[in-house]
Amino acid sequence: MKTQIVQVDERHINKELIQQAGNIIQAGGLVAFPTETVYGLGGNALSSEASGKIYAAKGRPSDNPLIVHICRIEDLQPIVKEIPEAAQKLADAFWPGPLTMIFNKTKLVPYETTGGLDTVAVRMPSHPVALAFIEAAGGYVAAPSANLSGRPSPTLAKYVAEDMTGRIDMILDGGDVELGLESTIVDMTAKEPIILRPGYITREMLGNLLPSVNEDSTIMSDESGQAPKAPGMKYRHYAPRAELTIINGETSRVIEYINGELCRLKKEGHKTGVIAADDTIDKYHADIRKTIGKRNDEIGIARELYRVLREFDDEKTTVIFSEAFDTAGVGQAVMNRLLKAAGHKILQI
Ligand code: AMP
Ligand code: MG
Repeated sequence: MKTQIVQVDERHINKELIQQAGNIIQAGGLVAFPTETVYGLGGNALSSEASGKIYAAKGRPSDNPLIVHICRIEDLQPIVKEIPEAAQKLADAFWPGPLTMIFNKTKLVPYETTGGLDTVAVRMPSHPVALAFIEAAGGYVAAPSANLSGRPSPTLAKYVAEDMTGRIDMILDGGDVELGLESTIVDMTAKEPIILRPGYITREMLGNLLPSVNEDSTIMSDESGQAPKAPGMKYRHYAPRAELTIINGETSRVIEYINGELCRLKKEGHKTGVIAADDTIDKYHADIRKTIGKRNDEIGIARELYRVLREFDDEKTTVIFSEAFDTAGVGQAVMNRLLKAAGHKILQI
């Protein structure tokens, strides 16, 4: 399959081009597109064949459901059994934006889209190209992140092309994404909403609007012995090809420990890498050092994380050590992804 890559400028959206992309979806094809979180891999959410194609293109396990993207609030009603009051509140506050909510689905949504579940995940993105594209596509676009299953989500069109060339019909290149981490997922079907995946919309932000918000116990630890409620969260995810370990502790000891390991691993023939904040990056003796930004700027760190992980792949690094970062606010989402990328390998020293 030939994959067409086209540039789109969000300030001057070429309507003809977007309609062309929309027509591909309506004809059962696949188009990758920019959102404010990461690039999505879109297909018609109401077609079981199109959803099947998405799983095939990504190599994604078929029990890992897709998020349905809409562009108008009135398009929610037909695909969900009920809209709880709390969900209406969150939609008013955070849509369009980086929040996904889980509802009981209607028959309109095929089980192929929901990985066999009776619930459906829905989000209205805020990126102008995404909104125009979803409208041109008929209103319902199923879209997981546009990476091969298990790899870091793409924050640039070139990373989509790396994973998806020859597998999908078109890539809409809208440049850098704004946030760089996937949406917050909240299950609205429980009595009290539950955060299944942390993101830019934090527990505090949700708690300001709702009487109570719970959190899936598997978000920051794999030790509860329970399966995550979002099926996708059980897979090793967001992972670079190299073996990644997070080292947590007092800064000078972390530096000393990592440098000792780097020395040992270099002798064994490894190509070594380090991920650290601006203020400590120069202290490490790795072959490749990558700063992820200022330590207290979680939003900046969120934006850089996947790019940094992908670059280590490009540079054929074989082992990586990362500092741990603060888990306040958006930091929780950053550490959740970093822990998954490391397969929960974190060392307290
Ligand atoms: P991605 O689009 O690649 O970010 O993956 C979508 C995420 O949403 C995965 O972790 C899924 O498991 C989760 N998800 C989608 N639909 C549901 C659902 N109905 N119930 C629980 N989690 C879901
Ligand atoms: Mg994904």
